[in-house]
Amino acid sequence: MHKTSTTSAFDIRALVRKELAALEAYTPIVPFEVLSARLGLPAAQIVKLDANENPYGPAPAVIEALAEYNFYHIYPDPQQTELREALAGFVGVPAAHILPSHGADEMLDYLCRIFLAPGDAIIDCPPTFGMYSFDAQLTGAQVVEVWRQTDYSVDVEAVERTVLEQSGGRVKLLFLTSPNNPSGTWLPDADLMRLLRLPVMVVLDEAYVEFADHASRAAWVLHHENLVVLRTFSKAAGIAGLRLGYGVCPAWLMDELWKFKQPYNVNVAATVAGLASLRDLDYLRATVEKLKAERRRLVAALAALDFLQPQPSEANFVLCRVVGREAKTLKMALEQRGILVRYYNKPGLDNCIRISVGRPEQTDRLLEELQTIVAHQA
Ligand SMILES: *Cc1c(COP(=O)(O)O)cnc(C)c1O
Repeated sequence: MHKTSTTSAFDIRALVRKELAALEAYTPIVPFEVLSARLGLPAAQIVKLDANENPYGPAPAVIEALAEYNFYHIYPDPQQTELREALAGFVGVPAAHILPSHGADEMLDYLCRIFLAPGDAIIDCPPTFGMYSFDAQLTGAQVVEVWRQTDYSVDVEAVERTVLEQSGGRVKLLFLTSPNNPSGTWLPDADLMRLLRLPVMVVLDEAYVEFADHASRAAWVLHHENLVVLRTFSKAAGIAGLRLGYGVCPAWLMDELWKFKQPYNVNVAATVAGLASLRDLDYLRATVEKLKAERRRLVAALAALDFLQPQPSEANFVLCRVVGREAKTLKMALEQRGILVRYYNKPGLDNCIRISVGRPEQTDRLLEELQTIVAHQA
């Protein structure tokens, strides 16, 4: 506990909102550079397959646009007019329905703070992305969990029942992710249709939709007042480090967001990079196709190993149940060999690892090291 040097008649910490006091501190991931130093491996030799980043990065034209831009000393356009127009062409929804953000994560935070007050609730469908419950708890709202079924599909009936059981309209937001992270599962149109009949705001997170074998539902916001769709440049467009996402929203929600958002929430570097990415869609599509092809190869190769059970995935990662050995030991052994994957051991994800799809040579390294590890332990 930190001791203060001055004596005061009151406890300064008591001024912090009580919802915060009840929260556990966020566990940050070990930065790439730190891990590289710890393992004694140069960063270039580390195969980073733990955060679903796009190993191809942005198009060369994006790097050029960033280098050539001359107005970094000028504040960004608070209305993001040019970027919103370009996004409208890409998404197929008018610019008036699109709001760029500092990553999709910022939109999640805005939505939670627009809709939730202490005493309200969200419905979360775990196992899924952790930010929904994180942001909801920061507002003091309760997180009601409706677990996915064993094949990771959303239990639509259980969600319906749960919304109706909660009295007085306490449930305000329903978070859905398609493809889901970490399972890669698609939410079918018919399920989404049914869930949109509920008297709640549906937040559909499409962070990985470019990798899916199905189409985005972004245009559905034009016909459903209780739907907002989140998208990002972090995964398919390969600029996770620049932080650029966007919400596709019904008109009434845009009005609220315009009141609510920080004027300069999207910085000029992210804007320049986003615009350049959208001008070079051939590059983006080619990268996505390479990753989808690699996903097929990775899934087949992993399925051939008797200790891994890969889940079918529509995203740029593959969730695997580890059979007959400890997932944690496997993760650590891979890490020692410079390969980073994500490890889970919690309900619905017992003894699992999640592997992001990389370049073919990264898959080769992974498969080689997996075989070595097994040979050593046999
Ligand atoms: C990565 C991820 C995001 C975050 O996107 P950012 O635009 O980088 O904030 C959102 N949702 C899911 C499901 C993700 O996996």
